[in-house]
Amino acid sequence: MRWFQWIGWVALAGLLTPPVAAHWHEDSQAIMGTVVAAEIWEPDPQHGTHLLAAVMAEMRRIDHAFRTYRDDSELSLLNHAAPHGWVEISPELHHLLEQSVRMSELTGGAFDITYASAGRFYDYRAGRRPDDATLQAAVAAIDYRHLELAVNPPRARYRHPAVYVDLGGIAKGYAVDRAIELLAAAGITHAAVSAGGDTRIIGDRRGKPWTIGIRNPREAGGLSAVLPLIDTAVSTSGDYERYFEQDGARYHHILDPSTGRSAHAAQSVTILGPSAILTDGLSTSVFVLGVASGLALIDQLAGVDAIIIDADGKMHYSADLQRLQAKDS
Ligand code: ADP
Ligand code: MG
Repeated sequence: MRWFQWIGWVALAGLLTPPVAAHWHEDSQAIMGTVVAAEIWEPDPQHGTHLLAAVMAEMRRIDHAFRTYRDDSELSLLNHAAPHGWVEISPELHHLLEQSVRMSELTGGAFDITYASAGRFYDYRAGRRPDDATLQAAVAAIDYRHLELAVNPPRARYRHPAVYVDLGGIAKGYAVDRAIELLAAAGITHAAVSAGGDTRIIGDRRGKPWTIGIRNPREAGGLSAVLPLIDTAVSTSGDYERYFEQDGARYHHILDPSTGRSAHAAQSVTILGPSAILTDGLSTSVFVLGVASGLALIDQLAGVDAIIIDADGKMHYSADLQRLQAKDS
C-alpha cells in the first residue's frame, strides 16, 4: 500500500469514529405520571438505542401492571377482589407487597400502602378532598396489617372491607432498579435512570461524578443543593409535586397514615442509599416521620443518608453527611 493511500485510510477512520460524546445515549418519555429519563454510555450506537428502548418498555410494563388510575391493572383487580377473599397474584406483585410491608415495619407504619384507603378520595388536580365523615371511615382501613400475604401460589387478601392499596410510594423506585439491572446485565458501566424524583446511577460520568439537584421546595426552577454522586440511588419526596391550596392550607400527596391527611413535618426529603426501591420508600416515610424521628431512623441504617428541608425551609443532614460537611469546611 502506498504511503499516501495509507494516510487516506487513517484520515477516513478518524472521520468515521464518532467523537466520544456520541457514546452517550439518552431518552426521556412521559411514563408513570412523570418524566422517565435514561442516559447511558455505550460505544455501539445500535446497542445504545436498543437498550434505551428496553428501559422505556420495562417502565411502561411496570406502570401498566401496578397503576390504580385504571381498572385493568393487576393491582386494580386485586383492590377489587381482595376485600372478599384470597386472590392469586403474580410473583412480582407479591414481591412488591412484601417489600412494602417490610418498609412499614421498618418505619413503624409511617410508610403504609393502605394509605390509599383515604388517599383515593383526594384529587389534587381537581382540588378535591374527602369530608370528615369519609375520612374517618377511611382511616379505620389504613393499616398494613390488614393486608395478608401467602405463597404457593402467591396470593393476597384484605382483612378489612374498605382497604385500598396504592404502590405510588415505591413503584417508581422499583421500576428504576429494574431498568438499572437490565443495563448492568447488558454490560453498561456508566448510566443514570430516573423516574420523577427517583434516580439510580451506575458508575460515574466518565471521570467526573453525576450531579443531582435538590429542588427548592418553594421556588420553581430553583435548587437548594447540588449533589455529586457515583454508584448510588437517590430519591426526593416533596410537598410541591401534587398539591392544591384551600383556605391557606396545603393539601399534598404524602399522607400520614395515622390521620389520612397530608404530612406537614417537612417540605422535602432526599434519601441516598443502595437501591431506588429503598430510597423511594424511605423518602416518603421520613417525610411523614419528620426531622427528629426521621434522622434517628436513617442513622440506624448503614449506607443510607438523608437531607431534610423542614417545614420552615431549614436543612438537616444525617450523621454521615454532617461529618462530610465538617471535613469540607
Ligand atoms: P413522587 O415521586 O410521586 O412524588 P413520593 O416518593 O414522594 O412520590 O411518594 C408519594 C406517593 O406515595 C404518593 O403519590 C402516594 O402514591 C404514595 N403515598 C403517599 N403517602 C404514603 C404513605 N404514608 N405510605 C406509602 N405511600 C404513600
Ligand atoms: Mg418515595
